[in-house]
Amino acid sequence: MGMQVTILGSSSAIPANDRYPSAQVLAYENRLYLIDCGEGTQMQMNRYNVKKNRINHIFISHLHGDHYLGLMGLLSSYHLFGRKADLHIYAPCELENIIELQKKAALTVFQYNVIFHTLESRLNNPIYEDDKLAVSAVPLSHRIPAFGFIFREKPAEPKIYKEAINVYKLSVEDILRIKRGTPFYDQNGQLVPRASLVYPDKKLSSYAYISDTIYDPTLAHKLKGIEMLYHECTFGEDMKTVAAEKFHSTAMQAANIALKAGVSLLLLGHFSARYKTTEALASEARSVFQNVLAVEDGGTYAVNSGMKNEL
Ligand SMILES: [Zn+2]
Repeated sequence: MGMQVTILGSSSAIPANDRYPSAQVLAYENRLYLIDCGEGTQMQMNRYNVKKNRINHIFISHLHGDHYLGLMGLLSSYHLFGRKADLHIYAPCELENIIELQKKAALTVFQYNVIFHTLESRLNNPIYEDDKLAVSAVPLSHRIPAFGFIFREKPAEPKIYKEAINVYKLSVEDILRIKRGTPFYDQNGQLVPRASLVYPDKKLSSYAYISDTIYDPTLAHKLKGIEMLYHECTFGEDMKTVAAEKFHSTAMQAANIALKAGVSLLLLGHFSARYKTTEALASEARSVFQNVLAVEDGGTYAVNSGMKNEL
């Protein structure tokens, strides 16, 4: 399965207009990563059939309630369901104390380990890495410390053509050297073009989650080459002043970042409750950058294809 994101919540501040506060699940190679966990995330997971137990890593952007008030409930449910697997949480530093206080008040000791990774002290990227994927944190400009997250597929080991192995009688050592990128010469001393030896590199998937932030043009540089960008768009351009006062962005500002970063697809989310529908925000963004979708709760968006399909 390629990289795809299911939106569980796209509302800013409060649940409204059938939109829940921020939460989304990134799926890649049968692994699930939770990004933010606003109020109601568990109910949304139930509704959209997200396999909670496959989540071992949770990324929390900042400690405004609309981004993490569902987390304690989720942790508590894991305890009640008898979870044993370690759970890693990447978040601003105060979150650990908040969780510990709630556990203490309830005289609860979880049956599984929660391992906190403080974002403030982990700015050497990546903050998380496995064999398939690396995650980096990006500091954002908000009223309190806030971080965006970039998920990047890691390059796979180059694959050698079977015919090349036969034609050039490649030894195991030759194969290892070619995989490492060493030039290969045939028996006559002629350089063999790399394209005749290895399959072409696959386009690597990447996804960035940028919420919440004031308009920050310097982000574009950090997001260069990202395939799919989710950028907060709390307001329309007519509310530009209010957006700046509240350290949020407008649809047009999100589109400017997408344009400057050269992303393939821009997803708009984190909508103010004042917008019952979001088409106007999407068309405002399209006046700057063509490939825009305003997300819907329950929508799944695949990186590279730009396809959206309801679960
Ligand atoms: Zn927010």
